[in-house]
Amino acid sequence: MRGEPEDHKEFEARLKAYEGRPAAATGVGRDPVNEPMIRHWCEAMGDTNPAYTGPDAVAPPTMLQAWTMAGLTGRPERTAAYDELLRLLDESGHHAVVATDCEQEYFRPLRPGDEITFDSVIESVSRRKTTKLGAGYFVTTRTDIRAGGELAGTHRFRILKYSPRTYVPARTNAPARRPTRSEERRPRPVVNRDNAGFWEGVARRELLIQRCTGCGTLRFPWLPGCNRCGCVRWDTVAASGDGTVYSYVVVHHPPSPAFDPPYAVGLVELTEGVRIVSNVVEVPYGTVRIGMPVRLEFRRYDDELVLPVFRGVTS
Ligand code: ZN
Repeated sequence: MRGEPEDHKEFEARLKAYEGRPAAATGVGRDPVNEPMIRHWCEAMGDTNPAYTGPDAVAPPTMLQAWTMAGLTGRPERTAAYDELLRLLDESGHHAVVATDCEQEYFRPLRPGDEITFDSVIESVSRRKTTKLGAGYFVTTRTDIRAGGELAGTHRFRILKYSPRTYVPARTNAPARRPTRSEERRPRPVVNRDNAGFWEGVARRELLIQRCTGCGTLRFPWLPGCNRCGCVRWDTVAASGDGTVYSYVVVHHPPSPAFDPPYAVGLVELTEGVRIVSNVVEVPYGTVRIGMPVRLEFRRYDDELVLPVFRGVTS
C-alpha cells in the first residue's frame, strides 16, 4: 500500500515476528475417538451417513476439532507468545475481536480408539486491513491434530483484532477521534415484512404482541407462524406495559460509539407471559435484580429512532 504510514510498517514487522510461534501448549485429547461421541454428533447434525456406524465406522471428518476440546471446565493453555501478540494488538487500539472463519483439511480418517494429540501455532498475522467493522489484523492459528502421532487433519481458526470504526473525518490525515454525542447513532432495527407491524406499533407507542388466531398462543419476538400449532394467521394484543426482570446483564465492555457503558440489559417478562430484551433504565445499573418490577416506556434516541425500554420500579 503506497503512502502507508511508517509506524504501521514497523508495527506489522513486530506482529509478523510471532508467525510460527506456538499458540497453545501441546494437548492430548480428553478421550480417544469413540462411538458415543460420534453417535451424539451425528444425531445433533442429523447426519445418517452409514460410514459413521458399524464395525468399520470412521468419525465424521468435521468432528476434527471436537476431539481437541477441553470441556466446560478446561482452559486452553495459551502460550505466552499468543498472549503477548493479543496484548500488543489490544494496546495499539485493536481491542475488539471477532471470529471470522475456520478451515479444515483432512489427511486420514479417525476411527474409534485413535488417541489424539494436537499442537497449535500462530500461522499468520495479516497486514493491516480495512473492514466494515474497522481496521485491524487477521490472526490465523493452525492446530495440527494427530492420531497415534500421525497427522490426521488441520484446523485453521481466524480472528480479526480491530479498532472499532468510529468517526473519521473525510479526506484528511487527522487521526480518528471519539465521536461526540451528536454523531453517535444507535444501530437501526432491521424492519421486514414479518416484523413491520411491531415497529408500526412502536411508532404509536404501543408494544404489540402477536397472538395466534389458531390456538391463541402469544408470541414474541414476531414470527411468521405459530411455534405451537404452525398456524400462519395472527392478530395482536397491546402489552399492558407491566413486567419483571427475568434475567439481565450489565454491559461494561466493549465500548461502542452509540452506547455508554455501563448499562443494564434486561430480559423482561411481561405480565402477558412473553419475554423481550430491552434496556432497564432510570435506576442505577447496579440495582437491577432478577424479579425487579419494571414498567414500559418509549424512549426517543434520535430523529427517527424510538425504542421500547423498561423503567425499573424500586419500592
Ligand atoms: Zn397457534
